[in-house]
Amino acid sequence: MSGPRSVLVVEDDRQNFELVEFLLEEAGIEVRGARDPVTAAAMLADALPDMVLMDMQLPGVEGLELVARLRRDPRTARLPVVALTAHAMQGDRERFLGGGCDGYLAKPIETARFVDQIRRIWSESTRTHPESGPE
Ligand code: MN
Repeated sequence: MSGPRSVLVVEDDRQNFELVEFLLEEAGIEVRGARDPVTAAAMLADALPDMVLMDMQLPGVEGLELVARLRRDPRTARLPVVALTAHAMQGDRERFLGGGCDGYLAKPIETARFVDQIRRIWSESTRTHPESGPE
């Protein structure tokens, strides 16, 4: 099954970051982590991953604003982004997908299905950038 080979996880909750990192690395996916939007932007300037998983409740910035910034930058315009959110509310899915995210997963994540969900969103993403290609 094709899927992302590298993922940047933007998450300020240490426990959730470690769980996501564990699940992705166990599946052979390279993980980098950022705990805030400024660090995330610096890491994206340094190297582009195949996909970004982004907590929507980050310190200092609305998650969708950060996604909007990525979409405006030609370099990251097509980078697949998955929104992660706690306190899921009705309408979140539409709000995040309409706001430029390629997929949406509510926390707590479903550990047994998580990597499959990530790969499915990646495969279905219309934004998947060319360098990623099929494996
Ligand atoms: Mn958070």
